Amino acid sequence: MPDAHTDVLVAGAGPAGLTLACELVLAGVRTTVLERDPAPPGFCRGFNLNARSLDLLEHRGLADRFLAEGPTLPATAFVGTAALDLAAMRTRHPYVLGIAQTRVEELLAERAEELGVRILRGHRLTGFREDGEGITADVTAPDGPLRLRCDWLAGCDGGRSTVRKAAGIAFPGTPARRFALLGDVVLADPGALPLGTTAGPGGGSVFTIPRPGYVRLVTAEPDPPEDRDEPVTPDRFQEVLDRALGRRVEIAEVRWLTRFGDAARLAERLRAGRVLLVGDAAHIHPPAGAVGVNAAIDDAMNLGWKLALVARGLAPERLLESYHTERHAAGARLLRDTRAQALLAAEGERLAPVRDLLGELATAEGTAGHVAETITGVNTRYPAHDEHGHPWEGRMIPGDGLLPAPARTGGGALLLDEAAAPAAVREAAASWNGRVTVTAVPSGRLPGTYAVLVRPDGHVGWVARPGAGAGAEAAGGAVRSALEWWFGPPAPLPVAG
Ligand SMILES: Cc1cc2nc3c(=O)[nH]c(=O)nc-3n(C[C@H](O)[C@H](O)[C@H](O)COP(=O)(O)OP(=O)(O)OC[C@H]3O[C@@H](n4cnc5c(N)ncnc54)[C@H](O)[C@@H]3O)c2cc1C
Repeated sequence: MPDAHTDVLVAGAGPAGLTLACELVLAGVRTTVLERDPAPPGFCRGFNLNARSLDLLEHRGLADRFLAEGPTLPATAFVGTAALDLAAMRTRHPYVLGIAQTRVEELLAERAEELGVRILRGHRLTGFREDGEGITADVTAPDGPLRLRCDWLAGCDGGRSTVRKAAGIAFPGTPARRFALLGDVVLADPGALPLGTTAGPGGGSVFTIPRPGYVRLVTAEPDPPEDRDEPVTPDRFQEVLDRALGRRVEIAEVRWLTRFGDAARLAERLRAGRVLLVGDAAHIHPPAGAVGVNAAIDDAMNLGWKLALVARGLAPERLLESYHTERHAAGARLLRDTRAQALLAAEGERLAPVRDLLGELATAEGTAGHVAETITGVNTRYPAHDEHGHPWEGRMIPGDGLLPAPARTGGGALLLDEAAAPAAVREAAASWNGRVTVTAVPSGRLPGTYAVLVRPDGHVGWVARPGAGAGAEAAGGAVRSALEWWFGPPAPLPVAG
């Protein structure tokens, strides 16, 4: 029988829920994860981690664990047949890592266990009630129904999120208009379909992706059943495949069959009272670009440290509004980019010239970097606390060894030019000890400034403006304002004994 009270209850142990739980426990918050399924699924949806995820994992010293698991590739598929040149991105990881989503989840679950996260599998959240003091969650568990009490509830429970629906958060967007069937299969004759796109005589096509010991086949389903949740049977898959190819390709073994559509929706609010939405619960999009796992990790890394500070009573709830502001905007871009790719890939001959043009831009010197950074989220820029044009404001800090150890433990970092920073800045920061670690960096490493505040998710929260206001007092005041904005009020001074 689990404890009846936890600081944060996380519904769902997918990439979003596991990442968020790790971040919360790392920051000292009691966290319980409820997972509906008793065991991990026997199929695998995604097969990659992109540069943005690796950059984020780098801030916890975890990127190497994931990089040890698979090959890295300098390009990835884009709008059907074109390639996206990832090597042109400004990141420590200018490639895509080939790694099964199931393995990503295993590694995250291992990390969660190391940190002491409690994961209750076979526990489904069925509803909740919020009152002035917290939330009571209704759960069905293997031994019968349960009631759990928590201060905060994170809905990481996928695209059909129970949490989102029970919170009454609208999910506007576009319904699915096109459907595709996906089959992870072993072909009787492995040479029967080449890798990539095979066109049939009647305008249909099949996309073949190599997997270890099998292939993933994806083909349009022009006549989906009325009930889109109707299971895809082997006979139905074979029928649609044969029609697309205009010939029979024999399937020897079926591993997983499913149907997916191109619906695109973004939750109206990522926060309602004590409820927060993360990952697919907050946004669904066509699988073009292979970014869903990455967006889930990105949301969770943005929310984790903020929710931890608020749950511990250190920062005001206002900080959680920045989660909505930052990640709702990122969600809107995610929908735009994946919808554009899905439309272009599906539209046949009519849009072939647009695909050609975009394919050229995605590999040309001068534009390739921008396109790749946009599609992968590497160039994500959040509104800064005190925007004044320093190129680092709101962006992830360049990963060139500047960022010291504190971020690895989930805290923030104040980087000071050891020769140029006024002593008042260091003195002011002492009141945030435990939340922020002050680190001196060699003189001249911080271009055009003497101090940079790095949030726990690696984004630059503030850059000091040399010359703005005169003297040590102004410098101390500026850093105090930035620290309070991101990390809550300073610790009270100890009472003299
Ligand atoms: C065919 C396909 C291919 C894809 N390929 C890629 C790819 O190559 N790369 C990529 O990055 N993304 C890919 N995606 C998208 C990716 O799989 C999702 O975006 C990602 O899994 C979202 O993570 P999440 O943690 O938000 O949600 P999920 O992974 O859906 O996790 C939600 C979890 O919550 C649990 N849950 C649900 N309801 C409850 C409840 N009431 N109580 C408790 N637990 C509950 C579920 O069992 C599940 O474990 C693909 C998606 C599809 C459909």
